[in-house]
Amino acid sequence: MNFFHYKGDELYCEELRVEGIAKKTKTPVYIYSYKTLKRHYEVFNSAFRGLNHMVCYSCKANSNIAVIAVFGSLGGGADIVSGGELFRVSRAGIPPERVVYSGVGKTGEEITRAIKTGILMINIESEGELNLISKIATRMKKEVGVSIRVNPQIDPKTHPYITTGLKKNKFGIVWEDAIRLYKIIKESRYLVPIGVSSHIGSQILELSPFLDAVRSLREMVYQLRDMGIGIRYLDIGGGLGITYKDEAAPHPEEYAGAIKEELKDAGITLILEPGRVLVGNSGILVTRVINVKIVSEKTFVIVDGAMNDLIRPSLYDAYHEIVPVHKRESKKEKVDVVGPICESGDFFAKDRLLSQLQEGDLIAIKGAGAYGFSMSSNYNSRRRPPEVLVVDEHYFIIRKREAMRDLIRGESIPEFLRV
Ligand code: PLP
Repeated sequence: MNFFHYKGDELYCEELRVEGIAKKTKTPVYIYSYKTLKRHYEVFNSAFRGLNHMVCYSCKANSNIAVIAVFGSLGGGADIVSGGELFRVSRAGIPPERVVYSGVGKTGEEITRAIKTGILMINIESEGELNLISKIATRMKKEVGVSIRVNPQIDPKTHPYITTGLKKNKFGIVWEDAIRLYKIIKESRYLVPIGVSSHIGSQILELSPFLDAVRSLREMVYQLRDMGIGIRYLDIGGGLGITYKDEAAPHPEEYAGAIKEELKDAGITLILEPGRVLVGNSGILVTRVINVKIVSEKTFVIVDGAMNDLIRPSLYDAYHEIVPVHKRESKKEKVDVVGPICESGDFFAKDRLLSQLQEGDLIAIKGAGAYGFSMSSNYNSRRRPPEVLVVDEHYFIIRKREAMRDLIRGESIPEFLRV
C-alpha cells in the first residue's frame, strides 16, 4: 500500500503531481511519500501489539535524516552500522536508548563514540571486537549494554549478496563460540550482557527462515538464563521482503503473528530492525529520457539517471517497475532503459515492455526508497540527486542536488603540480 497513484493520466505522489515536482527540482530526483512511510511504520509496529517490542529502523536502507526523523517522531529507534549512522540518528533526534549498533568492523573510535552517546546495545560480531569494547569501556569506566550477534546458520533463500546468516558469511558468531563469549562478558566489569541478536539477510519472502532463527535465539536466551545471564532483549534484525514485481511478500501481520506465537512466554523485549519494508515502496526515482537510440536489434531508452543514483539493478540484477509520469496512448515496445555512465552494467531495465517513450518524457522507477540514495555514489563525477519528501499537497527538499563544487570538496592539488 502506498500513496503513488494516477489521477487521470498523471502520476501523483499523495496530492502532488510528480511532473510538477520534477520541473522544479530537475531530474533525476528521489521522491518519498510521508504518508506511506508513516503507514508502513504504523502497520509494522502495531502488528507486534501485545508483545514488548521496539522498532529500530535500519537506517542504512535510507539514511536521510528527515526519513529517520519520520520514524523517530512515531516512537521508533534506529539500527546503525557505523559512526556516520550514529551521527545521522543523533542529528535526527533518535534518543540513544533506542539505538542498537551492529557491524562486523567497528573501529575503536566508533565504539568510543557509541559508548559516550549511551546507546542501548552494541551487537558484538567477534571475539576481537568483544576485547576491544571491553578495553574501551574499562578505560572510560562506563558500563555498556551488549549482545552477541549470533549466526544461526540459516539459509534465508534470498540473493547471495544479501544473505548474512550462513556459516560462510562474515557476520555473527556461531552458537558454541557465542556461549563461550557470553561467559567472558559475564565476568567482565563493564560489559553488561542484555541481549541476543541476529540478522539473517534481506528481501526474505518466506516466514520459515525467520521462525527458525527466532527459535534458535530463544533457545540461546533460555540457556543463558540457566547460566545466570539475564537476557532482556532479543533482537531478530530486519530482512522482511517487499513486492518489487510479483513476489508474494508476507504481510507484517503474518510475520509478527508467527513471531509473537514463538515468543509469548519468553519474557523478553523484542527488537526489530526493519529497513526495506518501511521505506522501499515509499520512494520513486524520477528520471527524464535524454534520447532514444535504436541499434540493429535493440532500442535503448537513455535517461538522465544512472547506476550511481540507483545501483540495485546493476548490482543485484534487481527488478524495479518503471512507469510513465504522464501516461499516453501508444504501442508497447521492448527496450533497455539505461543511464549515461560508461559501463554496460549501467541499466535500470533490460528487455522491458514499456509504452513508447520519447525524448523529454519522464519516467518513475518504483520501489526506490530502500537502498537507493543510500547506496548512491559520485561515479563518473555525477552529482548525486536531490531528495524530496511529499506531505499531502506540500513538498520539502530534504537534500539538495549536489553542486559541482561538492564533487571536489576536500580535494587539493599539491603545490608542485600547479601550473
Ligand atoms: N539489520 C542489519 C544488521 C542489517 O545488516 C540489515 C540490512 O542489511 C538490516 C537490519 C535491514 O534489513 P532489511 O532492509 O532487509 O530489513
